[in-house]
Parts: sequence; structure tokens; C-alpha cells
Amino acid sequence: MRWSWKLGSVASIGIYVHWTFLLVIGWIVMMRWTEGATAAGVLESVVFVLAIFGCVVLHELGHALAAKHYGIRTRDITLLPIGGLARLERMPEEPIQEFWVALAGPAVNVLIAAVLLVFLLAAAGATAFDVSSLEGAGFLVQLLAVNIFLVLFNMLPAFPMDGGRVLRAVIAHFSGDYVGATQVAASIGQVMAILFGIAGLFVLHNPFLIFIALFVYLGAQEEAHMVEMRSAFRGVPVRDAMMTRFRALQPDDTLEVATSELLAGAQQDFPVVEGGRVVGLLPRLNVLKALAEGGTDGRVRDHMQADCGTVEDTEMLDATLRRMNEGSCPTLPVVHAGQLVGLVTLENVGELMMIHSALKQRKPRPAARGSADRA
Ligand SMILES: [Zn+2]
Repeated sequence: MRWSWKLGSVASIGIYVHWTFLLVIGWIVMMRWTEGATAAGVLESVVFVLAIFGCVVLHELGHALAAKHYGIRTRDITLLPIGGLARLERMPEEPIQEFWVALAGPAVNVLIAAVLLVFLLAAAGATAFDVSSLEGAGFLVQLLAVNIFLVLFNMLPAFPMDGGRVLRAVIAHFSGDYVGATQVAASIGQVMAILFGIAGLFVLHNPFLIFIALFVYLGAQEEAHMVEMRSAFRGVPVRDAMMTRFRALQPDDTLEVATSELLAGAQQDFPVVEGGRVVGLLPRLNVLKALAEGGTDGRVRDHMQADCGTVEDTEMLDATLRRMNEGSCPTLPVVHAGQLVGLVTLENVGELMMIHSALKQRKPRPAARGSADRA
């Protein structure tokens, strides 16, 4: 994710923190300071926030390790003020796998809460619920409460919360219809988001709740859209969605050539061809970066992406889309018998999707007189 810093890595999964996280720390410091807290008090609050986010990282690692069990790698984990985000290379589509991967995160917080509870009870001895005499107990009790909150919050049955995925997995398991299950789960999530929004606006006057409502609403929409798109393209070959009017570059072309091609048409990413074979891809972003660094003198060869590979025109679009989502190439060159025949871009796929849904909404033509009941 953009604007993130790497903290380190666990089990070869990079852990990043998003810059907005600093706002949270700053806000805490300011709040405590204006309350008249001592420097030690402010520090304790900051440590507490860091401890919470430690629990969030463990939560995300729970997802990542469960996914690993099913052979799915995790690209990275990013900490945002609203929580953590583990980017899996792909989502498990097998309901039972999604169920366990989604549940593994909150399960970690249940475990942390249980450990804290046992520790507090053991340390307090007979005065189980009077932990006030224990040094630092308030901190641990609060951390316990936070973990319980994390479990409840994440198990809200709405995308993009874990509860939404658990709900979809359960519905899909019993109905056998992944797309339908996604739609039901997304609708439940959106209704809940609207209720949250109303509560936040009119009852509790809580901007945080409104923010969550918006987050959940958009998350549900996006999930439903993505699953719908994937299912619409199952069984559709790449050649039906590829761009066939395009320009290609050669490795020895200068960036000046690339720039004029970029300006001459709407094409953003250019396949690089040498001796009839595709050897790379030059995305617009690379051209702009190269121009900023060294002007137009450079060669295409030095700025192209050589690891994009190609896709056969007979390959299925849903698999290709997944590959594009997982990789870092915005466009894939399409080949037929080794020859470049087209480009598949996300915009083009989006256009095909629009055409699909326009055709689906098409009103049936009024039946000819006398044949109305022949259907
Ligand atoms: Zn989670």
C-alpha cells in the first residue's frame, strides 16, 4: 500500500504501517496532554496504543498462517488506523477454506484475551476481580477489553469484516452458490452499515461510527462487484476481451518514441517486441518515472518490465484477471502461437463488464401480435 513504512517481517511476510497511523498517535498525545496528564501518563497511553496494534498484527498473522495452511501466500500486512490488512495473494474460494482463514484472525484475539484473563486471575489469587492492587493491572485489564472488542468488531457479519466472510462461507457451503452467497452477505452488510450510519448520525452523534458505516458499505459493494465480475468472466476466453488495436515498441526505441506513442493515442502500456517475440512491457508509469529521472535519452529496454509474461488468447478471463490482481503488471500481452495478437487491460475488461450488464438489462422486445403466449 502506498505511503507505508516497513516495520519488519514475520515468516517472510512484510509488516508495514500506514502514515495515517501517526495521526492516531498524535491525537492520543494531544488528548492526554490537554487532559493534564504527566509525561509518564502520556507515554503509557502511547504504549497502550502500540500494544493494541501489536494485537492487531497478531490477528492478521492468524489469517496469514491459516491461509498458508491452504497454500495461499500473504504478500504483506499493513497497519491502518482502522485496523490491519493482510493482503493474501488470492482469496480462498472453497467455502470451508475461507471459513477457517476468516475465523483465524478473531481466534487469535480470543486466545490473547484468554491468556490475559488467566494471567490476571492467577496473579490476583483469591481477589480475582479486585486487581486494582496489582502493579500495571489496569493496563492488562484494558488490553483484555480491547481484545474482546476486536473479536466482536471483526465478527460483524459484513464485508470487509471477517464476519462477512464467515457468513458468506457458511451460506455458500449450504447453498453451493458462491456468487449468490456473496450478494446475500453484501446486502446484510449494507443494511447494517445504513443502521450504523443512522445511529452514528442521529442517536450517538459519533463520527467514528459514521466512518465505519461508510467503510463497511463500500467494502460490501466492492466485494459483490468483484465476485460478480469474476463469475461473469468464467468461461470467457481472453481473446473476447482483448484490445486488438494497439502499438508495440522495440527494446532499442528511445523514450522519445515511447513518449510520442503515449501522446498519440489512448494506449497507456506498450508491449515490447524483439524479433517477433514479446520481451517486456513498458507501462506509462515507467515512462513517466524514466522521464523524471533522465529525460528522453534512455532506451525502452532499460525501463521496461520484463517479468510480466504473456497470456494465451485461449486462456480464461477469470484466471487472467486473478493473475493481474496478484501481479504488478497493469496490462498483459496476449499471444497466439507465440505471436502478439492483443493486450488485456483492466479498462478493457471493465468495458466488457459494462457491455455485459447493459445486455443483461436490455428490455425484452415487445412480442409480435398473436405470439404473446408462445414463449
Ligand atoms: Zn481479520
